Order: sequence, then structure tokens, then C-alpha cells
Amino acid sequence: QRLTDAEADGDERAVEAALRPKTLDEVVGQARVRDQLGLVLEAARRRGRAPDHVLLSGPPGLGKTTLAMIIAAEMSTPLRLTSGPAITHAGDLAAILSGLNEGDVLFVDEIHRMSRPAEEMLYMAMEDFRVDVVIGKGPGATAIPLEIPPFTLVGATTRVGLLPGPLRDRFGFTAHLEFYEPHELDQIVHRSAGLLGVHLTSEGSKEIASRSRGTPRIANRLLRRVRDYAQVRADGVLSLPVAQAALDLFEVDESGLDRLDRAVLDVLCRRFGGGPVGISTLAVAVGEERETVEEVAEPFLVRMGMLARTPRGRVATPAAWHHLGLTPPALPTV
Ligand code: ADP
Repeated sequence: QRLTDAEADGDERAVEAALRPKTLDEVVGQARVRDQLGLVLEAARRRGRAPDHVLLSGPPGLGKTTLAMIIAAEMSTPLRLTSGPAITHAGDLAAILSGLNEGDVLFVDEIHRMSRPAEEMLYMAMEDFRVDVVIGKGPGATAIPLEIPPFTLVGATTRVGLLPGPLRDRFGFTAHLEFYEPHELDQIVHRSAGLLGVHLTSEGSKEIASRSRGTPRIANRLLRRVRDYAQVRADGVLSLPVAQAALDLFEVDESGLDRLDRAVLDVLCRRFGGGPVGISTLAVAVGEERETVEEVAEPFLVRMGMLARTPRGRVATPAAWHHLGLTPPALPTV
């Protein structure tokens, strides 16, 4: 697994559970979302009703699952977890919905990946707390209405644009999570170090934060690798030199770029004079699949302002040249 991957792999979920904030007050950053969500939950509590359905959108690793768990905890109700890809038939969803109790929070991760028929069933469930279960096929099929106790749906998506309008409209509250600022990641790293019981200096923490690509999941993962290094090759203290040595070893540089990111920039600048270069050519030149370059390396490089997509191909910006320690070519004079 890439150290800079914002998605969690299976084993990581268990480690992460220990580091998750348990209440809204413990959540670092995302001040506006915290504030708005706090209000929505408090109002629901006072009315003694399940809160409106909540849609959480944003890139992986920014805290969507964490917030879903907090919503359930703050409402003192159980959280039921599922995901879009797990719901392939409407019947899968009917089974989940019919097992809910009043006030339960149902978390559907990657909600944009649910099947169409399930999606349509979900509209009805969200709005009327009722679904029609179709029994049989063809002319003999009958729809049996099924009542569902009022519940709160919390949907998470990395691609809000892929959600059909009718589904999006049925959420009473939508929160978009943003990448974190370095000082917020610094706070998260400190908090996690405390929970892991490791000794971290403030410079060490800042170093980890600045290489974490604005993403708490990556910050926590880098922290664990720096801890390994500190315990095996140093005196156990996560200081600045230890953090630097550990992250250099794992090839995550000062700006959070990994080996593939740097390879893309390197080829673009040194071999193609900064571009424009087509994505396929770029992929061949770094020895990767086109999809890997496009989906794994490119989004972060674009976000960092180092790479631009143009109709004629990918172009390195001056920031890319500077990052490689090169001088950008002079702009043509008009
Ligand atoms: P997502 O569901 O968006 O992929 P998660 O909620 O699983 O992200 O968060 C990934 C990890 O990052 C969790 O282990 C959690 O500890 C940490 N994390 C995310 N957001 C925050 C935050 N605001 N404050 C502290 N830790 C956070």
C-alpha cells in the first residue's frame, strides 16, 4: 500500500478506530461543519426526533466515517454501517431498512455506488419511511408496502456530482469536508501521539503534518511509520530529525509528494521540457498505467499547483520546476 494513499486498507480500519474522535468537541478543524452539525443535532434532541438525513461529501480520509459515528453517539443511538457497493439489489436495502429501530442512524459509505433500483427504494424510505418490496416478476409481480421506523440516513460520498438530484435533494443537511490546514493536522498528530502513548516533539509533529497532504488519515499513518523508526533506529522520541529520516526513508518528501508524484514531475520537466504531454505518453514514460497516473498522482499534483491540465496535454507549472530544484524555462517574450 502507498503511504500517501488517502483510502484505508482493511487492516488499517482497526488501528484507526482507536484514533477516532468520539464527540464533536474532539473533532479538530472543519469548524463550520462542526458548528452546523452541532446545531442540527441539538435541535433534533430537543424535539425528541431523529435528525434530518445528512450527506457528508469530500475526499477520502477527511473524517466522514468519524462524523457518522459521532452523529450516532451524540444521539445516543446505534450506528448501522453499510456501503453503496454492498447494496447490489433493492432487496439488500429492504433487508437493512426493515431491521432498523426507531431513531437508528444508518451510515451508507460510498453512497454514489449504490445500484439504481436500490437508489429508488432509498428515495421513498428517506421521504416517507416506507418502501415497496416487489415480490415476483413480470405481470404477476406485486408490491408489498413495508413501514420503516423513522431513522436518520448518513450518506458519505467522495463524488457528490455523481449523486442523482432526487437523492441529493432528500438530505436535509449537506456538509462538505475540506482538506485540513497544517496547524490542524499538527493538532491531530499531537492528539494521536497522546493516544498511542508516544513521545513527540512539536517540531516532529509539524514535520509529519506538513507531509500529510491535508489528510488526517495520512497524518496518522505517517505518525505510525515515524514511531516505528523512532523505536527501531533512534531513542524512541519522535523528534524533527527522526521524522525527517523516517519520511525520507519512506520516500514522502517535504511537500507530501511520493515517488510516483516526483517521477511524473521529473519526466514532465526533464524529458518533455515541461509539456504539454498527453497523459498516455506520460504514463508510459514513468512505467505506470494511465489510470494510476491519472487517478493517483495527478489530483494531488494539480491541487499543489504543480501540474495543469490543458487541452493539449499536461503541463508543469513553475512550482513543479522549483520543487525539483530546476529553473523553469523563460516565458516566451511577446
Ligand atoms: P473518511 O470516512 O472520510 O475516509 P475517516 O472518518 O475514516 O475518513 O477518518 C480517517 C482517520 O482520520 C480516522 O482514523 C480519524 O481518526 C482521523 N480523522 C479524520 N478527521 C479527523 C478530525 N477532524 N480530527 C481528528 N482526527 C480525524
